[in-house]
Amino acid sequence: MARRSKRNDPEILRKKLVDLLVDFEKKLLEQNLRDQVRALIPANHQLRDLGSSLVKDENADSARDRVLSYLRKYPGVLVQGDELMIVAGISEYARRIRELRVENGWPVFTGQAYKEAVEDEGSDMPATDILSVGKTDTYILTEDKQDRDAAHRWNLANEIRKSNLGVKSKLLKYFRENLGKRITGEELKYLAKGASEWPRRVRELRTEDGWPIATRMTGMPSLPVGVYLLEEDRQAPVHDRKIPDSVRVKVLERDDFCCRFCGWDPEKSRLADRYRSILELHHIEHHAKGGANTQENLITLCNICHDDTHRGNISKSSLLQKLKGS
Ligand SMILES: [Zn+2]
Ligand SMILES: [Zn+2]
Repeated sequence: MARRSKRNDPEILRKKLVDLLVDFEKKLLEQNLRDQVRALIPANHQLRDLGSSLVKDENADSARDRVLSYLRKYPGVLVQGDELMIVAGISEYARRIRELRVENGWPVFTGQAYKEAVEDEGSDMPATDILSVGKTDTYILTEDKQDRDAAHRWNLANEIRKSNLGVKSKLLKYFRENLGKRITGEELKYLAKGASEWPRRVRELRTEDGWPIATRMTGMPSLPVGVYLLEEDRQAPVHDRKIPDSVRVKVLERDDFCCRFCGWDPEKSRLADRYRSILELHHIEHHAKGGANTQENLITLCNICHDDTHRGNISKSSLLQKLKGS
């Protein structure tokens, strides 16, 4: 059983530690190995107590509480595992992090999973930080927000992970069973049994298979890095699937992430409008008739206006007029 840290006033602990180290000078001179090692035990305990006492949060009595308290002070910041060891006062902090993630639903990414997500979708994180992500034992709390549904999702992920499906099928099954819910890259990496191919497979589901999986870069700028959400349980029509992500993002940005016909804004009115649920890109000159995947030929529409357009209720010229209006 690991020793539990005793928290106290850091200055008192610091003085005790200094005294112990001053006394240790004698032990070094005596050159008795066993004595030296034993004399270091209280100093080691004292140092751990000091580290644990740095977290001032009164409720942070357990190692897990202190790790959480520390991460929540620095959301979005990459921290070293050794920092967590200091505040936890124990060396098995990695297990505590898994518990926080899986049982309590805190979005704590390992540096490696975060790096894989960032490399695929981009981030505003300074390049120097991205370089150090994933290199060593690093962690990041992507959002100061607990997801109470996470424990249930991790159970489901565990079930799907054990199945004989390929990685892409596992990911799709998981997305469809969590329709409209935020899913972290850490969960997707787990489904892929740790393989770094998971961001590529998610991208294929979106771009080649037409599943409306949103990220902050592809349709839902309010999502944090490394979070994914299947917006609708339906695949885009084949003619809309081949739009490159770079073009898709530019069109969405130009159209301010709103329907250019009715003005629907998913960020503001997802709950208010039960029929409008997703933004889609429409080819003004239809793709089948040779319309290109260019910004000029694409317009952002909500699913209702998009359906209306294909039924012939909204004319090409009225769409072009809306585009020119800006
Ligand atoms: Zn609309
Ligand atoms: Zn269309």
